Amino acid sequence: MPEGDSVWNTARVLQRALAGTRLTGSDFRVPQLAATDLTGWTVRESASRGKHLLLRLTAPDGRTDGGRDLTLHSHLRMDGAWRAYAPGERWAARPAHLIRAVLRSPGAVAVGYHLHELALTPTAAEESLVGHLGPDLLGPDWDPDEAVRRLAAHPDESIGEALLDQRNLAGVGNLYKCEVLFLRGVSPWTPVGAVPDLAGTVALAQRLLAANRGRWTQSTTGSLHRGQTSYVYGRRAQPCRRCGTAIRKAEQGERVTYWCPACQPDRP
Ligand SMILES: [Zn+2]
Repeated sequence: MPEGDSVWNTARVLQRALAGTRLTGSDFRVPQLAATDLTGWTVRESASRGKHLLLRLTAPDGRTDGGRDLTLHSHLRMDGAWRAYAPGERWAARPAHLIRAVLRSPGAVAVGYHLHELALTPTAAEESLVGHLGPDLLGPDWDPDEAVRRLAAHPDESIGEALLDQRNLAGVGNLYKCEVLFLRGVSPWTPVGAVPDLAGTVALAQRLLAANRGRWTQSTTGSLHRGQTSYVYGRRAQPCRRCGTAIRKAEQGERVTYWCPACQPDRP
């Protein structure tokens, strides 16, 4: 499941494959972009903001006056992915019917699978796509104080839901939410206003995401061995690694959450 770190990794894959190159072809398999042809456009850079991917393009005439530059936006949600292939290599990562976008350059082909919110927008108007996001945990302008301020502005909301709300801070998905709260000993149902150390919680979330940057196996335990990469996430009914109590799983808002009822009591 794409969280901020895997979206960051994906942005880097696209950066390596396409940045600085002039596109030799494009193919969009979504209705809103079916007539779009990016041949001749130069890929300036690939970036991530939270879980949003932004591929910034310069017009064929090379003018970067801001007014003509475009950003190709995509969101991976739960199941999207971009893969880079060498020219002529078989596109074997996923079934072909999931392909939504193909970008060809002289040295690589980038194929986007099951992308969401695929849109082309003037780069100058990027903020309309990502301006609502809170500080990006892996962004160059990461601002923990602002993230804490935004969280604290809704003291009655549960911390489990507040950490997933990308308007508070951008990049935490369900895995990191569950793991951070376990490591802090905080129940997911604790109101934000009752979390003992909000700044420490935010700082830990950032450290966990940053530690997993650059690799595809996400681990919060320090182990990369299969079945040992998380404390509570995906471990329903298995014994807590700290106290042996059975890990619980329940719906919370629109998502599920995992927690240890002993290590994360509702009333600390
Ligand atoms: Zn426990």
